[in-house]
Amino acid sequence: MTFTSHMHIALSQARAAAKRGEVPVGAVIVAKSGKVIAQAGNRTRELNDPTAHAEVLAIRAACAALGQERLEGFDLYVTLEPCPMCAAAISFARIRRLYYGASDPKSGGVAQGARVYAHPQCHHAPEVYDGLSADASARLLKDFFEARR
Ligand SMILES: [Zn+2]
Repeated sequence: MTFTSHMHIALSQARAAAKRGEVPVGAVIVAKSGKVIAQAGNRTRELNDPTAHAEVLAIRAACAALGQERLEGFDLYVTLEPCPMCAAAISFARIRRLYYGASDPKSGGVAQGARVYAHPQCHHAPEVYDGLSADASARLLKDFFEARR
């Protein structure tokens, strides 16, 4: 089977988030079949909700669409390394594979910082693939923060 990245959808969600004045991070959840179940970008400002990160919104939307509380066998693409909160939510959702773009030395919780999946208290760790479209993801964030200075 050939691997098809869905990161371009996550990137377009990140771009849409930037247009709304949100930190440009986008996420998409895909079924084994390749069907896109949910996609989201950050909405913390719009919703006045510090938990409204792209990953959390995509997980909520996918679970609502499917009428189930877990996403076993589903994959999540996100443009930036998940923070500890999102990494934990991804674990709780039983996501099969996590693909992310840019690494996040400031707030990342997967490959650095909290390293959520490295602890015995983490009951499900997804397979992690990093660096997908990392340059495009990082550039979006850089442009966004430069424009706000
Ligand atoms: Zn997060």
